[in-house]
Amino acid sequence: MLSNAIQKVKPSPTLEITAKAKALKAAGKDVIGLGAGEPDFDTPDFVKAAAIKAIEEGKTKYTPADGTPEIKKAIAAKFERENGLTYDLSEISVASGAKHILFNAFFATLNPGDEVVIPAPYWVSYPDQVAMCGGTPVIIETTESEGFKVTAQALQSAITPKTKWVILNSPSNPTGVVYSKQELLSLLDVIRQHPHVYVMSDDIYEHLVYGAAQFHALAALAPDLKDRILTINGVSKSHAMTGWRIGYAGGPQEIIRAMGKLSSQSTSNPCSIAQEASVAALNGDQSFIAERNKVFQERRDWVVDALNIIPGITCLKPDGAFYVYPSCAGLIGAHTPEGKIIETDSDFATYLLESAEVAVVPGVAFGGSPNFRISYATSLENLQEACTRIHKACEALVLDAKLTSNGR
Ligand code: PLP
Repeated sequence: MLSNAIQKVKPSPTLEITAKAKALKAAGKDVIGLGAGEPDFDTPDFVKAAAIKAIEEGKTKYTPADGTPEIKKAIAAKFERENGLTYDLSEISVASGAKHILFNAFFATLNPGDEVVIPAPYWVSYPDQVAMCGGTPVIIETTESEGFKVTAQALQSAITPKTKWVILNSPSNPTGVVYSKQELLSLLDVIRQHPHVYVMSDDIYEHLVYGAAQFHALAALAPDLKDRILTINGVSKSHAMTGWRIGYAGGPQEIIRAMGKLSSQSTSNPCSIAQEASVAALNGDQSFIAERNKVFQERRDWVVDALNIIPGITCLKPDGAFYVYPSCAGLIGAHTPEGKIIETDSDFATYLLESAEVAVVPGVAFGGSPNFRISYATSLENLQEACTRIHKACEALVLDAKLTSNGR
């Protein structure tokens, strides 16, 4: 009965742990969830006010399928102001979230056998969306010692005559890493050598960068490649608007038109009220972002320090997003007090949930093991309690010879 396309889609591995966490909560357990992929801050009041005004003014009807001229103008102005990128309105598409934009882009461009290069650890939806649209995901593994960043050499060897897209996501979900300008330039040099390859730049965490790190838009770094780059962004993370469902892309007109055609025959326009709210979000005062980033940075610093003193855990300090991606390699092979062996990061996440009542996402969900993702988009108080519990749970693991010999 079911299509071949849907049968290629795996259920999200994050669902298992989320379902378990929900069941424990429903049973009255005090579970701390560190799985959130969204800011814990509220949507700014001026954005909410714009939505209320839109309702009162009757902006409640169908709009053009890929966005109103007003939102496209606001997006074009944002690209110009923040990224130094000039896009005509015909080069901009708006849809119901960046996830929808990515799906539209894959569906509009992939033929069976087309390859999409995805550096791991990756955001969970990339490989499954590619598979749904008939493409073949080609995963490039990266290591913690490389800072979870794909090198130019690794990219070069992953590209074949069948490669259609390379996906880059900096700052990254799940690792939080931010590529430097130099690193991006060297990846762009590789792309330059392969005129049949396009780049999907998922910039959804653009505004969440800390300290000296800087975000760089790929099309601005390589203007000669602009007609081979799809720049994807949205208001979900930057403006704490995950529920409003507005994402957008700037890119080659041919692809943008095809994406709009797909929306016109599938979803129609993204919510008219959310579009109005997003115009206000993009055109309004952006100073709240810097204020919120101070809070995120403080939490990141705290959580990385707390994790690095836990036996068996090591954690890099990433420069962006609101995730850390610690390794639990030092605990693989350890025995739980109940005598179970921790064989994978999934086992470790299950152990944390059951014994410490802390929900984290195992690295297997992101194609990067043995690690786990912690979202620090929650209060410092929650993080402190969660890390105390994780620490105790790790100390309770009966360490095998390997662990005791390396001192972790
Ligand atoms: N890209 C990445 C890397 C993400 O982490 C997410 C959301 O978690 C998205 C895209 C999708 O965002 P949106 O809420 O705009 O669909």
